[in-house]
Amino acid sequence: MPDKVRKFIYEMQYNFIILQHQNKYSMKEIHFRDVENFDHALHEASKTVIVTHMKPDGDAIGSSTALYHYIRKYENTETCIVLNDRPQQCLNFLMEEEISDDMFIITEDAQKSREKIESADLIICMDFNAFHRTDRLCGLLEASTARKVLIDHHLSPERECFDIIFSETEVSSASELLYTILMSMPAICGNASKLPARTATSLMTGMTTDTNNFANSVYPSTLIMASTLLAAGVNRDYILEKLYNQHSENRLRLLGHMMKDLLVIMPDGVAYIILDQKTQEEYNTQEGDTEGFVNMPLSIAHVRMSILIKEDSDRLRVSIRSKKGTSANRCARLHFNGGGHENAAGGRLNIPIAEAAAYIEKHVNEYLKEEDEKHAR
Ligand code: 5GP
Ligand code: MN
Repeated sequence: MPDKVRKFIYEMQYNFIILQHQNKYSMKEIHFRDVENFDHALHEASKTVIVTHMKPDGDAIGSSTALYHYIRKYENTETCIVLNDRPQQCLNFLMEEEISDDMFIITEDAQKSREKIESADLIICMDFNAFHRTDRLCGLLEASTARKVLIDHHLSPERECFDIIFSETEVSSASELLYTILMSMPAICGNASKLPARTATSLMTGMTTDTNNFANSVYPSTLIMASTLLAAGVNRDYILEKLYNQHSENRLRLLGHMMKDLLVIMPDGVAYIILDQKTQEEYNTQEGDTEGFVNMPLSIAHVRMSILIKEDSDRLRVSIRSKKGTSANRCARLHFNGGGHENAAGGRLNIPIAEAAAYIEKHVNEYLKEEDEKHAR
């Protein structure tokens, strides 16, 4: 393609980004002043740490590694990523080569992780809305006097904890929000080909997993991002292969067992599955293996909310998904000690697993009745 044409296309794309800022493409609240402040904060920092939520998913790792590679290319600050725990294996392709020397996991190397956070003068918090979502990093983040930047797409962020805040719920993912921020940075100026290739790959990966491969939370801005990144050379086939076609046989067998034998569907439209540790061991279940399973019961016409309870060593982890009109987020907040997004949320329960079915049947029934009454009013 001749350079002139390429330049014209990029300018068009940049105008799209500007339109996004002007509210035409769903994004409501990015301020150029914040982008400028973030850019300055990166210039001024000498030690930057990127952190994300516990049990990091594709968006958490995608957005964190995307920013890491951007900083490595365009900024002078030292940078690293500190995690609570090791991400699921299918994300390893985002963490290879030089980045692996700059990743610290507090549950595996407490001392180094602690040192990194304690000596940081800039901390960037990706894809979570409150420090407690980082589990063991929480106390260190609270104690740190570093400047803190939030880049997140969850409801109800704890604003008082951060100095610069990018919080936007009308986007697919933290990766999409970061994409818009980076595209607005002076170093990139709307030209996606200036993003490091690995930044672009990571951003596409995070958006892909958080939208469940374009099934949920897709906004006009999401498709513009995807199209721009593809045009800039991202290899989506490679990403899909790594994310979705590298699982074990056990995982598919477990899915079959869960849907055939463990799925309970209540008459009022709540489906739930309780997965105990014994079954997880039987199928040699690895972290991330059940990712996406909780969505599947929503394919049934009269199911409006789906809940997966997974037994961990010390608690029951809860995943909730809902159809439009039913709030997974409110249900998670009220009954499962959690939160998240309107139609995808999570939480935890500290009750014996034997009591989980009765708990769900009682609380969720009541919750739906309340919601129905509210709608009827
Ligand atoms: P998942 O079901 O995939 O683990 O989580 C779905 C969404 O709910 C994610 O956006 C996640 O950040 C949020 N979430 C999961 N667990 C919790 C939790 O314990 N507390 C809160 N506030 N959000 C959660
Ligand atoms: Mn996310």
